[in-house]
This record gives sequence, C-alpha cells and structure tokens, in this order.
Amino acid sequence: KKKQIFKGKGILNCSISSSIFDLLIKHKIPTHYIKKINENSILAKKVEIIPIEVVLRNIAYGSLCKQTNIVPGTKLKQPLIDLYYKNDNLNDPLITSERIFLLDFIQPEELQVVKEITHNINNILKDFFLRLNLTLVDFKLEFGRDSSGKIILADEFSPDNCRLWDRNSKNGKIESLDKDRFRN
Ligand code: UDP
Repeated sequence: KKKQIFKGKGILNCSISSSIFDLLIKHKIPTHYIKKINENSILAKKVEIIPIEVVLRNIAYGSLCKQTNIVPGTKLKQPLIDLYYKNDNLNDPLITSERIFLLDFIQPEELQVVKEITHNINNILKDFFLRLNLTLVDFKLEFGRDSSGKIILADEFSPDNCRLWDRNSKNGKIESLDKDRFRN
C-alpha cells in the first residue's frame, strides 16, 4: 500500500532473482526459469499459475506475529509453511489446505510436492545466505504447472518476497535487507 519508485531496483531484482534461480537449478529444483535475457528481463517457461502463495517461515515476524502472540524474532522449532489464497480482491487471505482442495486449485498429492520443494529450497537458501552472513527469516513462493502438468517453481525470488537480516547487526538490533527496510 506504500508506494515509491527507486531507480535501478528492477535491474537489481532481476539480477538477484536470476542468481537464485541458477543456484536452485544447480540443486535440481524444478523451475520455470530459462535464462536472463537482458538486465531487466528473464525468459521463463509458460506456466499456469496455481493461485496459492506459499510462505515458509524460519523466524516469526510480520503477519504471523500480528495474528498470534508469538514474539517477533522468535526462532521457530521447525520451519512453518503458511498458505495464502492469491486473490487481490480478497486481500490474499490465509487459507487452509481443506479450503484449497474445496476450491480445486490443486490435488493433495500435488500440494505435498509443493511443500517438499519449498522445504528443499529453504535448506538450500538458508545455507547460501548464511555464508553471506544473512539470516533467511521467511520467504514467499509461487508455483505453476508446465505444459506437461508438472509442478514447477515460478514467479521470482528477491528481497521483495523474502526477509533477510544482517547477522553483523549489533546489540540484537534487526537490520533488514529487504522490503521491510522501506516499509519500516
Ligand atoms: N510476502 C510476499 N507477498 C505477499 C505477502 C507476503 O512476498 O503478498 C512475503 C513477505 O515479503 C515475507 C513473507 O512473505 O517475506 C511473509 O510475509 P508476512 O505474512 O509476514 O506478511 P507481511 O508482514 O509481509 O505483510
């Protein structure tokens, strides 16, 4: 809801997203990504997007803390996957798997695949960012079906859809290197 334009931001997001897709592909994650074709475009396979936003959280922050009494910054005992219905008119509400099956967006076995891929991506990226001295707090993914119906990772991966905290930050202060920096 808060808007601003930053020169060069699209180029940066394109570059970050491309690098992350390259890394995920190296780890055999199925994605729509083909290649970066210029500084602000990527070429991707055509997919039919599944209207679910898949959020994985390692640390409690944002909407999880607003909707529960979990203290922001609490490390979760295990990664939590939250599903949201991707629908602007409805404001992307949190949704249960049962309601997702009721709406017939995805089959239970397919949702299982989505969750497995999401956990694998978390393991790859958590380690990757840790080596850069960053904590991967949470992130949002979108999936789609390719022409053969296979479920693959789609959309983008950038600091617009994840939270990254600087581990060099002093005195327990949260130093966001993502869109929270602008929002806060
Ligand atoms: N997120 C996103 N798009 C959305 C909602 C959330 O990319 O429409 C990302 C967000 O950047 C964060 C994670 O999903 O990395 C969890 O967001 P949260 O549910 O805490 O909501 P927020 O506090 O960002 O509104």
